[in-house]
Amino acid sequence: MALPKYAYFGGKIVPYSEAKVGVLTHALNYGTAVFGGMRGYWNADQEQLYLFRPNDHFRRFLESAKLLLIEFDHTIEGLVEITRELLRKEGYQCNVYIRPLAYKSDEIIGVKLHDLHSALSIVSFPFERYVANDTNAHVTFSSWRRVDDNMIPARGKISGAYANSAFIKTDATTAGFDEALVLNEDGHVSEGSAMNIFMVRNGVVITPPVTDNILEGITRRTVVELAREELGLPIIERKIDRTEVYLCDEFFMTGTAAQITAVTRVDHRPIGNGEMGPITTRLRQLFGEIVCGRNLKYLHWVVPVYKEIPEVVSN
Ligand code: PMP
Repeated sequence: MALPKYAYFGGKIVPYSEAKVGVLTHALNYGTAVFGGMRGYWNADQEQLYLFRPNDHFRRFLESAKLLLIEFDHTIEGLVEITRELLRKEGYQCNVYIRPLAYKSDEIIGVKLHDLHSALSIVSFPFERYVANDTNAHVTFSSWRRVDDNMIPARGKISGAYANSAFIKTDATTAGFDEALVLNEDGHVSEGSAMNIFMVRNGVVITPPVTDNILEGITRRTVVELAREELGLPIIERKIDRTEVYLCDEFFMTGTAAQITAVTRVDHRPIGNGEMGPITTRLRQLFGEIVCGRNLKYLHWVVPVYKEIPEVVSN
């Protein structure tokens, strides 16, 4: 991965090499940070870089911060502006990933959330595919369980909780799978290591509810709307059993990094006929057009970096 040239750090844009913290930093020792992850898509015809749903990403970022008692003066709109400025300074003409991080910055010993200072950084870098095999991924059910809302809330993007995701991902990939699905303590399917999940059974699109220890994904919300509005499909949010996944017709994972990743095998069993299904294919096509500003109906989901923001801002 190419390192960024610049970072937003200490309240201004500085060379990336100056964006450093000391080893005693609270967040580095105790995982007391929250982060975001959004993408910018390059549209070569328009010579434009589009941020996908940045307002929604920063809204969730501020919500995650609230859970950890991290307070900022920044508004959602202000954070979008800083991000646009950073990207313009980098001058990217390619797809990029943006990583905002809000962290407890005191260099002290002591496990707690209160009476600590916070800092904000934002960096960006060129980025393409996250799941290398995103058209026919083979996934497995992890032997690890998802952290529960009363342990570390999965609804916040809390850095410390990603140790759970890292256990899940490493076991699966070192065993030769592309990704892993993780179960809740009650045995129902929660999500992937860094993606939400959807299955299609008998023409119905089904995804776990937000009370099943999932991150409330922005790609998830996007797919729910597209499946309902554009494909006219019924969508149900309900608990999913492990064996329903083995028997479903289509299965896919959604996330900013994973985009819409088609899963065609689970624990060595083919999903449907073992190839990417028609609903997944159509959703991927639609999503691909929308994110780089090629679908006029969904222009309100993208924000251009290199020109003025149009009147309709992402909701
Ligand atoms: N679940 C987890 C645990 C994640 O880290 C992510 C990635 N942010 C997602 C789901 C997908 O969320 P989004 O679509 O907002 O990127």
